[in-house]
Amino acid sequence: MEDLEALREALRRAGRYYAGLRRRVRGKCAVCGAEFVGTTRRMYCSLRCAQKAYRQRRAEELRARRRERYLRSKVAKSKEG
Ligand SMILES: [Zn+2]
Repeated sequence: MEDLEALREALRRAGRYYAGLRRRVRGKCAVCGAEFVGTTRRMYCSLRCAQKAYRQRRAEELRARRRERYLRSKVAKSKEG
């Protein structure tokens, strides 16, 4: 019975692998605009661009958080005075 389960798992894995191969599409990098061939999920041409996009996202988050904290401190001060 264990062998059968192992075989099923192997088949599932193979199925996923081939499904991934079939779904290869041409894409355009969201950062630098370079064209590449990848899976449908891929958004960037390289790890470098993915990291760049990630850092930009993080920077925007941090900016928004800082702005929020600044506005909150302003409100607190106006209540004091
Ligand atoms: Zn790129």
